[in-house]
Amino acid sequence: MELDKALDLIAEVPDFPEPGVLFRDLSPMFADAAGFKAVTDALAATIGPEVDLLAGVEARGFLLAAAVGYARGLGVALIRKPGKLPRVAGRVGYALEYGTATVELPEGVVQPGQRVAILDDVLATGGTVAATCKLLEDAKAQVTGVSVVMELAGLGGRSVLEGRHVEALRVC
Ligand code: IMP
Repeated sequence: MELDKALDLIAEVPDFPEPGVLFRDLSPMFADAAGFKAVTDALAATIGPEVDLLAGVEARGFLLAAAVGYARGLGVALIRKPGKLPRVAGRVGYALEYGTATVELPEGVVQPGQRVAILDDVLATGGTVAATCKLLEDAKAQVTGVSVVMELAGLGGRSVLEGRHVEALRVC
C-alpha cells in the first residue's frame, strides 16, 4: 500500500479526550496489514545506519518500535509510564496542559554511549518526546533522532525539540 493511503487510515475523532480537541486515532491503521506494513517500512527508512537501539514510548510507540526494530534488526528500550517497572533506572517528569506526567526507563537496557532513536505515534506539544530525550541522555545515551507517524504542527512540538533531528511521516 502507498504510504499516503496508509496514513489516510488514521481516523480524526472530534472532541476527544475533551471538547475542542481533534484526536488522531491510529487504531484502524494498526489493524490494516498493508497499512501497518507501509507505515513500518516508512518509519524504518527514517532511522539512519548509525543507531544501536530504538526507544518506544508507551503504548503505541511500543508497537511501532517493535515492528521497526524487527525490520531493522534493532532492540527496543521500553519507555514506560509510572508504576509499571520493577526496576527503574531513571525518571523524568514533565508538564501537560493540565497536570503532569512522567516517563521511566527500565534498568539494564541502555548502555552509556549507545545511539538511540526514539519512536512514537504522535508529536503534539513535544513534552513526551523531550522528556524521553532527557531520560535517555541522563542515562548517558546519545539521542540520534525522533521519528513519529504524525506531527500536529500547530502544537509546537518541533520547537520544543529544536536542534534535534525530527522525522514525521505526515505533518498536520
Ligand atoms: P505531547 O507530549 O503533547 O507531544 O503528546 C504526545 C503524546 O500524547 C504521544 O505519546 C501520543 O501518544 C499522545 N497524543 C497526543 N495527541 C494525540 C492524538 O491526537 N492521537 C494519539 N495520541 C496522541
